[in-house]
Amino acid sequence: MVEKVVIIGSGPAGWTAALYAARADLAPVLFEGMQPGGLLTTTTEVENFPGFPEGIMGPDMMELFKRQAERFGTKTHAETVVEVDLKSDPKVVKTDKGTYEAQTVIVSTGASAMWLGIPGEERLKTKGVSACATCDGFFFRGKEVVVVGGGDSAAEESTFLTKFAAKVYLLVRKEAMRASKIMVERVRKNEKIEALFNTEAVEVLGADRVEGVRIKNNQTGAEKTLIAGGYFTAIGHRPNTDLFKGQLEIDVKGYLVHEHDSSKTAIPGVFVAGDAADHRYRQAVTAAGMGCMAAMDVERYLASRE
Ligand SMILES: Cc1cc2nc3c(=O)[nH]c(=O)nc-3n(C[C@H](O)[C@H](O)[C@H](O)COP(=O)(O)OP(=O)(O)OC[C@H]3O[C@@H](n4cnc5c(N)ncnc54)[C@H](O)[C@@H]3O)c2cc1C
Repeated sequence: MVEKVVIIGSGPAGWTAALYAARADLAPVLFEGMQPGGLLTTTTEVENFPGFPEGIMGPDMMELFKRQAERFGTKTHAETVVEVDLKSDPKVVKTDKGTYEAQTVIVSTGASAMWLGIPGEERLKTKGVSACATCDGFFFRGKEVVVVGGGDSAAEESTFLTKFAAKVYLLVRKEAMRASKIMVERVRKNEKIEALFNTEAVEVLGADRVEGVRIKNNQTGAEKTLIAGGYFTAIGHRPNTDLFKGQLEIDVKGYLVHEHDSSKTAIPGVFVAGDAADHRYRQAVTAAGMGCMAAMDVERYLASRE
C-alpha cells in the first residue's frame, strides 16, 4: 500500500503536520523515532506555548499534541527511520521494523543542542542546566548564571539572560569571542555580563539543582568555583539530518534547505518542518507553525497530481 503522506518525527512539528494532514483526510503515518514527543519531553514547565495560561509540563503537552493528531486518524508507529529513498516514486521509507511507500514525506526530525559532556551536566538537566535561554531564562530571575560559548548565539543568549539574571558569567574557551563585532560590543557594554576568556567549565555542581560551576583557566590550569543557579550551553545545535545526506540539500550547519516562505524542498513531494530546517527560531510554536505549513503544502501537492 502506498501511503499518502509519511511524517518522520513526533515533536511539535511532526504532530502538527499530522493533525492537519489527518483533518485533510490524508490518513498520515507518523514515525515517532527514538524520542517520542521530541525535545519538549526533556523539559519541565513550558510557559510560552499559547493556550496554556498556567503553563504546562513539556511531556504533558506532547501527549496532548499526540491525542489531538490521533483523534482525526493519524496512524502512529513507534519506529525509527533508518533509510530513505526520497527520489523514487513512490518514496521509500525504511524503519527499524519495516518498509513503507509514500507519495509524500514530511521531514520533522528536529535538532539537538550540543553539550560539553562534563560531569553534572546530564544529571542536572531541567534542574538549572539548559541549552535554551529563550525557553528557560525566565526561571532565573535574580540568580547568577553561567553561559558557555564564544559565538553569536552565546552572545545573544547571555544578553537575553541579563533581562532576568543578576549576573551572567560568559565562559569563552579562546582568548577572544568569535561572535560578530556588533554582538561582542553588546556583550562588552553590558554591565551584568562578565566574560572570562581562556576559561572552560569542568563540572556543574549541585545536589538537586545547579549551585555552581567549577571552571578552569586553560592557560594557567588554575581552577575555581563560580556560585551560580543556572548553567547554559550555547555552543551550537546539531540538526538530525544525517539520514538525508546525498538526497536533500543540507546547509553548512546541517539544516535542511527549503524554499523561502514554503516547506518545499528541491525534491517534489518532500517537505520539511521544525528545528531540522530552522536555525533561527527553534521554538515549539514555530515548529508547530512549520508543521502546519508542510501539511498544507502536501495537500496542495497531492491535489495538483490528481
Ligand atoms: C530543555 C529544553 C527546553 C525547551 N523549552 C522550550 C519552551 O519552553 N518553549 C518552546 O517553545 N520551546 C522550547 N524548547 C525548544 C523546543 O523543544 C523545540 O523548538 C521543538 O521541540 C522543536 O520541535 P521539532 O518538532 O522540530 O523537533 P523535536 O521536538 O526535536 O522532535 C524531533 C522528533 O524527530 C524524531 N526523529 C529524529 N530522527 C528520527 C528518525 N530517524 N526516525 C524517526 N523519528 C526521528 C525524534 O524522535 C523526535 O520525536 C526547549 C528545548 C529544550 C532542549
